[in-house]
Amino acid sequence: MGVLVINCGSSSVKFAHFGDSESCPRVHGYVEEIGSPASRGQYVVSDHPRQAIPLPSGSDHSTALKAIVDILKGHPKMSDLVIDAVGHRVVHGGQIFSQPVRVGAREVRQIRSLAPLAPVHAEPNALGIEVAMEELPDTPQIAVFDTGFHQSIPPRVHRYAVPEKLYRDHQVRRYGFHGTSHQFVTTEACRILDLAVGDSLLISAHLGNGCSATAVRHGASVDTTMGLTPLEGLPMGTRSGNVDPNLHAYLAAQAGMSLDEITTMLNSESGLLGVSGETNDMRVLSERHAQGCGASKLAIEIFCFRLAREIAGLTVALEGMPHALIFTGGIGENSVLVRQLTLGHLRHLGFELDPAANETHGRDRKGIITHRASSGPCALVVATNEELAIARAARKTLNDH
Ligand code: ADP
Repeated sequence: MGVLVINCGSSSVKFAHFGDSESCPRVHGYVEEIGSPASRGQYVVSDHPRQAIPLPSGSDHSTALKAIVDILKGHPKMSDLVIDAVGHRVVHGGQIFSQPVRVGAREVRQIRSLAPLAPVHAEPNALGIEVAMEELPDTPQIAVFDTGFHQSIPPRVHRYAVPEKLYRDHQVRRYGFHGTSHQFVTTEACRILDLAVGDSLLISAHLGNGCSATAVRHGASVDTTMGLTPLEGLPMGTRSGNVDPNLHAYLAAQAGMSLDEITTMLNSESGLLGVSGETNDMRVLSERHAQGCGASKLAIEIFCFRLAREIAGLTVALEGMPHALIFTGGIGENSVLVRQLTLGHLRHLGFELDPAANETHGRDRKGIITHRASSGPCALVVATNEELAIARAARKTLNDH
């Protein structure tokens, strides 16, 4: 079954097509800066060179998706390419969607209704589905939700200690994000470590521009660091993660900042960027750290300490010591320094880093970066692949119905 995966964001559309039982996309690409005169796109067919996607200037989501479908249908090297289903990444499923679903007009309305919880993502996500429905009218459309995997988190973990009315009237609770990635890498870790999913206790750390860690008990998410929005939890590239909830009132009174200004500061000017005062790029920060830059060093130290603290905290929901800790995402998969500093804070949980294995990202050792002889939990690097996970989820959803 050929599946086209679409990730429709506020100003970009990424896509990938996976043939039957393929784990590498046959074709993948993106269109970015949608809505601006600079909108542009590229695609790659198998191992051929990149090519530009022809786009009218100032393309909107609809023209961008149409151009993508035209390429898939019209490219001579893809005359045998079939699209049996389209899998859509949808950021927020609220309390409505805990599983991937086949979507029609009703589900698109429900996704749009979640805009107050996902102001940046709900509309482009819904639009992506609508345009795909128009372009490929007879093809099933499946939505896969970032929040879906976390719907198994129990109320004592997902509810905030605020008046019940806020939950009842305004759905104020923790939802969690990056669910597709956490589910994918923990399933992969079970396969790699030969663990039965039903007996496994795992913690995954997805560290990209956004960062979250999740406790996965017997294959189900039982706690995660992100909350009502993706701002809660770990410090990230430009997001603060947890701060004192009184910070808003304090800054309003002391610095005369408005609600909008504080929200922008916490989402876009904080995290690695805010502390370093320079960049949110972990590669650059690591170089600056090596050169002795104090602010870069502090940014990385805060990042790793807070990550370690959350990982230790997640063992409570796990109800036991983890069999493994998984590092994934751009930073998790590539930063030797972040893994080294984080595991350095977790020695009391039994993690024994193997520096040589860490240096090579566990290559040749199935991603494992802890000592072989250690009796403690292992840590491993697993590359995430959200597009493939969405393609698999779309296939399974269709086969199950
Ligand atoms: P997104 O969340 O946007 O998908 P990614 O998962 O691609 O982001 O992660 C982006 C982060 O990964 C950036 O902070 C970048 O600096 C970091 N990164 C990428 N490659 C490396 C590397 N070789 N060493 C350290 N950090 C890296």
